[in-house]
Amino acid sequence: MKPYNTADGIETYLTDLDGLHRLIRERQAAYYDRKEALGNFIVQGRAYFDSCGNFGRCTFEHDYRTLLDWMPETLPRVVRPEVLNESLTKLVISYGISYAIPTVDHVCAECGRVWTIADWHDSVAVRGQDHELASFRHVRCDLLRDERESLREIQQIANDAGLEGAFVVPIPTEYDRSGRRTWALLCTPWGDIKVGWRKRVINIDWSDVVERACAGHRYEARERLRSVFDGTELFKNQETTKEQALVHAWSAAKAAEYLREIHSVARDFGR
Ligand SMILES: [Zn+2]
Repeated sequence: MKPYNTADGIETYLTDLDGLHRLIRERQAAYYDRKEALGNFIVQGRAYFDSCGNFGRCTFEHDYRTLLDWMPETLPRVVRPEVLNESLTKLVISYGISYAIPTVDHVCAECGRVWTIADWHDSVAVRGQDHELASFRHVRCDLLRDERESLREIQQIANDAGLEGAFVVPIPTEYDRSGRRTWALLCTPWGDIKVGWRKRVINIDWSDVVERACAGHRYEARERLRSVFDGTELFKNQETTKEQALVHAWSAAKAAEYLREIHSVARDFGR
């Protein structure tokens, strides 16, 4: 048996990241060039080598429902998936074969660290405009980058709206649906304006500014203040979703335009 097709043989490749890449190449060549019959193997609980010479990252689920993310740590370095499936009922092993993984020559585009055989799976492929592979980042580095870029974009919108002094504070649990673009509060002297993405629009919510302006006023004065801040009036010519203290902007430029308007009312009537 060829070393790339036995558990003991595969172990000998796992000394470093180069070895893992060599294993990937040799199994590909065995199947695609020489039509050799190959067995399935799970390596490090992270990599799936299938009988058709493919390599992918694998995940484990129970009954298609619960992700078993503790499982990679508990498996032998090399194991046959058939053995796992025999002993664990309802275990679902999935793998995708289009994953790119870093080589020893890659450094994380965010933190500059390199990958090794121990942590190559902690990587996200970064693709360019034409979907070509550009670089890699660690999973956490990738999240941090997205979060920082979101905050930078919100700060830019604030600057463009003339709110350079506004303090941008991320809201810890509020993200867009991708879970990657954080929402933030623009803290201004007149109150906090909540800004964040919702699918393709930027949600702007200035209810805190209205509440502050109204605080301490009696009923009629409050109603008058609410009406000057009313989004359905302020943005009545805009074809977009608007409510009393909320508007959806379809671009960063529109968001800056709306914020400028809200800012101008806040300067006159806020407190
Ligand atoms: Zn990193």
